[in-house]
Amino acid sequence: MERISDKKRIVIKLGTSTLAHSTGKLNIRKMTSLVRVLADLQNSGKELVIVSSGAIGLGVGKLGLKARPSDTPSKQACAAVGQCELMYMYDNLFDEYGITVAQILLTKTILEKNNVVNTFEKLISMGVVPIVNENDTVAIDELELEIGENDSLSAMVANLAKADLLIILSDIDGLFSSDPHTDKTAKLIPVVEKIDHHIEEIAGGAGSSLGTGGMATKINAAKIATESGIDMIIMNGKNPEMLYDLFEDIPVGTLFKANK
Ligand code: GLU
Repeated sequence: MERISDKKRIVIKLGTSTLAHSTGKLNIRKMTSLVRVLADLQNSGKELVIVSSGAIGLGVGKLGLKARPSDTPSKQACAAVGQCELMYMYDNLFDEYGITVAQILLTKTILEKNNVVNTFEKLISMGVVPIVNENDTVAIDELELEIGENDSLSAMVANLAKADLLIILSDIDGLFSSDPHTDKTAKLIPVVEKIDHHIEEIAGGAGSSLGTGGMATKINAAKIATESGIDMIIMNGKNPEMLYDLFEDIPVGTLFKANK
């Protein structure tokens, strides 16, 4: 499976900055255009699994809090409210295109026990799009950053769901040779054959500003994915139509090649 167009089972990670405004309110324009493209890809025969952040962020907005809280019980409360809002939106938007979604909330323990493998298989075989997040409301470890961010979670999910490809939609175009925010000569690296010391070094200095993770957690995700034999792409989520280019084998973002 060399060409991206040949990849069938795709895990796609959506970050809070793609789904919500800085106010914590839903970014309706981005979310509707994303779901339209994702529904179309599912209709074309792809098997999508979504890893979606946004629970805490949307909870902050819905509860009318001024800022993201720092204490764990408040974060758990926000996640409980926001996860509900998130799934309500996904359910409605995908339903417009006749696609059924399912919610899977994971914790570290569940991940380690591998007992959701069959759940993924069954849902995918029924044409359902599983939407995954960490169960932030009950999993204190996650909120206190034991797994903590959905970049690494998405790579673990790609492994569990036996995906052919992991796509991380970010607020940056991919991995750059240096920090594009400060260095005008920074160049996008289209393909990473192997994650070596040099790649880790650039990633450490070129974090994106908005997501929880930045570039370092994306490289960590890339390590987990490529070591599991799964290709991974980091691309900008601001124009979801670029996903069409990707599946027409037009290079987009940075491709991390799976270890064979
Ligand atoms: N699970 C968190 C949430 O839904 C997000 C973690 C992350 O942004 O990586 O709010």
